[in-house]
Amino acid sequence: MNVSNTYPTGPLQALDAAHHMHPFSDMKALNAEGSRIIVKGKGCWLEDSNGKRILDGMAGLWCVNIGHGRPEIAEAVQAQMAELSYYNTFFKTTHPPVIELSRMLAELAPPSFNHVFFTGSGSESNDTMLRMVRTYWKTLEKPEKFVVIARKNAYHGSTMAGASLGGMAPMHAQGGLPIPGIHHIAQPYWFDEGGELSPEEFGLQTARALEQAIDEIGEDNVAAFIAEPVQGAGGVIVPPATYWPEIQRICKERNILLVADEVITGFGRLGRWFGSEYFGIEPDLMPIAKGLSSGYLPIGGVMVGDRVADVIINQTGDFNHGFTYSGHPVACAAAIANLKILRDEKIIERVANDTGPYLQKKWALLANHPLVGEARMVGMMGALELVPAKPERRRFAGEAGKIGTICRDFSFKNGLIMRAVRDSMILSPPLVISHEEIDELIRLATKTLDDTHEELLRQGLM
Ligand code: PMP
Repeated sequence: MNVSNTYPTGPLQALDAAHHMHPFSDMKALNAEGSRIIVKGKGCWLEDSNGKRILDGMAGLWCVNIGHGRPEIAEAVQAQMAELSYYNTFFKTTHPPVIELSRMLAELAPPSFNHVFFTGSGSESNDTMLRMVRTYWKTLEKPEKFVVIARKNAYHGSTMAGASLGGMAPMHAQGGLPIPGIHHIAQPYWFDEGGELSPEEFGLQTARALEQAIDEIGEDNVAAFIAEPVQGAGGVIVPPATYWPEIQRICKERNILLVADEVITGFGRLGRWFGSEYFGIEPDLMPIAKGLSSGYLPIGGVMVGDRVADVIINQTGDFNHGFTYSGHPVACAAAIANLKILRDEKIIERVANDTGPYLQKKWALLANHPLVGEARMVGMMGALELVPAKPERRRFAGEAGKIGTICRDFSFKNGLIMRAVRDSMILSPPLVISHEEIDELIRLATKTLDDTHEELLRQGLM
């Protein structure tokens, strides 16, 4: 159905305001303004109900890795719907799509990963991970190893466990979180928190906060440490090179399970199948979602390394956990078709060797703009730090996010979706973006920075 031809924008917005509750939104303000209505997607491009073309610089929500509207996925989904539209995997049953997807994932993941537990989302994956690591230690007769250490300003989902593991204060404030047994340590955000330290020194210092926390809580009480290889929703925070090796050392020496939340970084975002491979991390568990199906259907999972899988499978007995849609056959069919596209079209290799470096080079040049204090990008995941003056790493006065919102609104207006995290602009385009589209993206981003700069000067904000 071509909605834009069927309904005018105004009445649709009114219906949306009347009946639809939006995630992560001030709905009263949104309803007054009216939602943008997206009606079509093809490749890296979206179209709204007014017929405006927009370059999707966020790949939906960091998920549409193969780009929008690939007919192969629609065909795979239709074929599976006709064959077996639903069956569960609970009571001694399984089905071909879930078997095939599990096999593919075991093949694509690092060698120590041979098992996967399916979920419907990244949040459910983190809930699953939390229950699994506690079950692991309980099975090994160490039930007191219960605390999971996570990081401030991390994002691990919106369920009770996901939001608790995450380190977002406004999310904790809603509903008495975190749940018991979660402890947060500092994040490796050098631009904001590095002070006079070099990035390398700061990376070591923030990694060693894990060791201090383990000492405080007691090694016998700590089950796991969880982190995103690159914090996404927190602001595309790329840790200094010293960070991950030190975290790895600490987890190994202290017998703490290491969980790499690969919900964003999995399936090519950093030019490797998994972000852990980019940083040389050897995690015990990897929650996944998003790029697993490129967002075409909801599916997530936890990749379970051999150390944990062996205990849960051979010693635990019943693992009392699962979702109606764990291993949904149609979602599995979509994921299989998606992984085949990523693999056979060598999209991830292109991000590593061709389009990724091309975009990174052009993105880095945006640091010359008077408004940009830092431009960073790994793979196809980047951020621009907006600053009132250079070269200091100083933020705009007043409420964080005000300038980011102004810039984000210009970006939309100019036909490029970038996201604002406080006063950082975030980019994470479909991995299939071409050289020409990258040129266009950089042109639109530059215009957006110019428009924002002019507006801030006009308002006397810089
Ligand atoms: N973990 C990370 C790192 C994420 O970025 C997200 C979603 N942005 C989640 C977990 C939660 O995934 P979902 O929204 O699918 O529940």
